[in-house]
Amino acid sequence: MPRRCCTVNEVQRPRTGVVRNWAGNQACVPVEVARPTSTEEVAAIVRRAHDDGRRVKVIGAGHSFTATAMTDGVLVRLDGLSRILDVDIQTQRVRVEAGMTLHEFSRQIHEKGLALPNLGDIDVQSIAGATSTATHGTGRTLGNIATNIVGMTIVDGTGRIHVIDEHDDRLNIAAVGLGALGVICEVTLQCVSSFRVHAHETVEYLDDLLADIDGFASSADHAEFFWMPGARRCQVKRNNRTEQPLDRPNTFEVVRDKYVGENLAFGAVCRVGRRWPALAPRIAKLVSSSVSEREFVDDSFRVFASPRHVRFVEMEYGIPLECLGEAVQRVREVTGRLSFPSLFPIEVRVSAADDIALSTGTARENGWIAVHQYQGAPYESYFQQVAAIMDSYGGRPHWGKMHYLDAHDLASRYPRWNEFQQLRRALDPDGTFRNEYLDRVLGPID
Ligand SMILES: Cc1cc2nc3c(=O)[nH]c(=O)nc-3n(C[C@H](O)[C@H](O)[C@H](O)COP(=O)(O)OP(=O)(O)OC[C@H]3O[C@@H](n4cnc5c(N)ncnc54)[C@H](O)[C@@H]3O)c2cc1C
Repeated sequence: MPRRCCTVNEVQRPRTGVVRNWAGNQACVPVEVARPTSTEEVAAIVRRAHDDGRRVKVIGAGHSFTATAMTDGVLVRLDGLSRILDVDIQTQRVRVEAGMTLHEFSRQIHEKGLALPNLGDIDVQSIAGATSTATHGTGRTLGNIATNIVGMTIVDGTGRIHVIDEHDDRLNIAAVGLGALGVICEVTLQCVSSFRVHAHETVEYLDDLLADIDGFASSADHAEFFWMPGARRCQVKRNNRTEQPLDRPNTFEVVRDKYVGENLAFGAVCRVGRRWPALAPRIAKLVSSSVSEREFVDDSFRVFASPRHVRFVEMEYGIPLECLGEAVQRVREVTGRLSFPSLFPIEVRVSAADDIALSTGTARENGWIAVHQYQGAPYESYFQQVAAIMDSYGGRPHWGKMHYLDAHDLASRYPRWNEFQQLRRALDPDGTFRNEYLDRVLGPID
């Protein structure tokens, strides 16, 4: 069950007010909110909390659906640590403070001729928040955002500062740390030359995509599709690197497609579906028929990320790529049997293998299946049935999205699990960064 770290009712005298995540399904009341502006200040905050026996947790943009960033101890916000510190044009490496958002980072490095090789659907997350949960986009040859980390500065659970570079074995453990190893204050990211993307959106039959899912995964640098349960056709996005000149949608098209279509109108039909679930099949047809083919060329970071104003909850699993087609088919069957329909599309993506200990991509190419439900509509039965399917493939849940697993279930899905636990013991021996979510998914420190 997705849990709350603490509820408002459980806290007698909140001193800081309620902190909620973007989806509104997690809340906590920290005893204190700290806004440091330097690594030394972070170290002092953690040292003081450690000595007082308090817990510490950083919250980024609060875009995780789990309680991963929730605490009743000291909540640290890194808005004051959000500057680019160094750009090395030669090596294409950028040192940046961890609180900067992916959007601001992409915008600023674009001016220097650089880009991140890939991004997810949105870019409002903080850099460290995104990397700590292995946030990913789509692309068969592309790892998640944490795979770009080549160095970091992290404050451990006793307030000591560690500078970890690429020659340090700890780096490819700490890169996806779930907030359990310390407060990341700076990261150095390996970037690439900025690039343009030719975006091609089409409408295709789900059956055709499932008949050759491997071919689909290789059909573009970044291939993904969205399928509305109940519909026969999908919205398919194939983004390829291109040298073609910019050919951006005009302002009218952006407002029509991104704001009115994907947010205002979609939000309205979701509200109708939540109130009158029997209309869901007609809504599915309406939503899928409202999508049309389009093409444009834009800078990579502007293509990858879109505004998301319709609130939802989400569960996403990475499974071995070869199981993806069968798994989507099984999820499709589940959606046909739900007592309350899914009002949101299912998103299917792919990602490359990496060697980071708790990265969801560790040692395998993943096919990703994300299921969503509109905020306030029932999702438990749906998510649990899908989770059972994903578990049958040894699926790895996204660390920032809802799931039902605990440390016992997860340990066997990560070959380097023990190495992570060893580093956790070394960096946070007294559990300064523990919270209810970490207790569940990582278990006790010793
Ligand atoms: C609308 C929406 C779209 C999304 N799209 C995608 C997608 O396309 N792909 C994908 O993979 N995910 C996606 N996600 C999930 C999201 O990327 C992750 O949950 C991500 O972790 C959120 O980043 P954040 O800055 O909000 O971090 P938070 O949710 O605030 O924190 C996440 C974790 O990181 C820790 N943390 C944050 N900063 C630090 C730090 N400085 N040092 C140590 N630990 C830290 C927190 O304590 C917490 O454990 C989406 C989420 C939403 C709501």
